[in-house]
Amino acid sequence: MARKIERIVWHTAAHGRDGQAFDTTAAQMDQWHRERGWSEIGYNVVIRFDGTIEKGRDPRKIPAGVAGINETTYHLCFSGHGDIAPLTPQQLQSGVQHTIAMLQKYGLTERFLNEPEGLIVMGHREVNELVKRGLAPTPTLKTCPGKLVDMNQIRLLIRQRLISMPAATYTYDSHAAGELFEGLRQVYSAAARLKLPEETLAALNQFRKQPEVDALIDRWLQENR
Ligand SMILES: [Zn+2]
Repeated sequence: MARKIERIVWHTAAHGRDGQAFDTTAAQMDQWHRERGWSEIGYNVVIRFDGTIEKGRDPRKIPAGVAGINETTYHLCFSGHGDIAPLTPQQLQSGVQHTIAMLQKYGLTERFLNEPEGLIVMGHREVNELVKRGLAPTPTLKTCPGKLVDMNQIRLLIRQRLISMPAATYTYDSHAAGELFEGLRQVYSAAARLKLPEETLAALNQFRKQPEVDALIDRWLQENR
């Protein structure tokens, strides 16, 4: 049975010292969490300084991110230390993009837009607000994702991005989008082996770059890569 995800949670690795934040890898965090006796890394993805997304725990399994609400949450962890340095512009960009993809994947976009105070996208420390509302059992003393990470500003960025996205002119179907991706890959590969002329390939590129095709493949890759 698939988990029902209700919130996307942002974390910091809290990894750094002497005013310097470190570009923590998913492998490092996996090791720390195993040393703590966990089965593997607790977060679903890790976002490095350059914006690269590294996979963590398979989101179909229950993560270990915020005590008491793990069953219904998805967790992004940013390399570095949010009390020492803000997220890099690449981390912010990548984090916003991935959060939007997960809001869409888990059918949370409408709720996020309609409930501005709903903490559908939240920082780890904001679990304390959920505790006040009776929606989570366990408060935290952590500043996670860090004093220099402004969750209100991040939610605003995500909201603006979502509102300015053109309405989809297709129906998203993950299986079909995967077939589109795989099919195009096969066509490109066959075209190369058949040594088709440049103009023919240009026509194929033109199809690949149509906004709908681009959006479908982008979303499929975000969700499945
Ligand atoms: Zn955290």
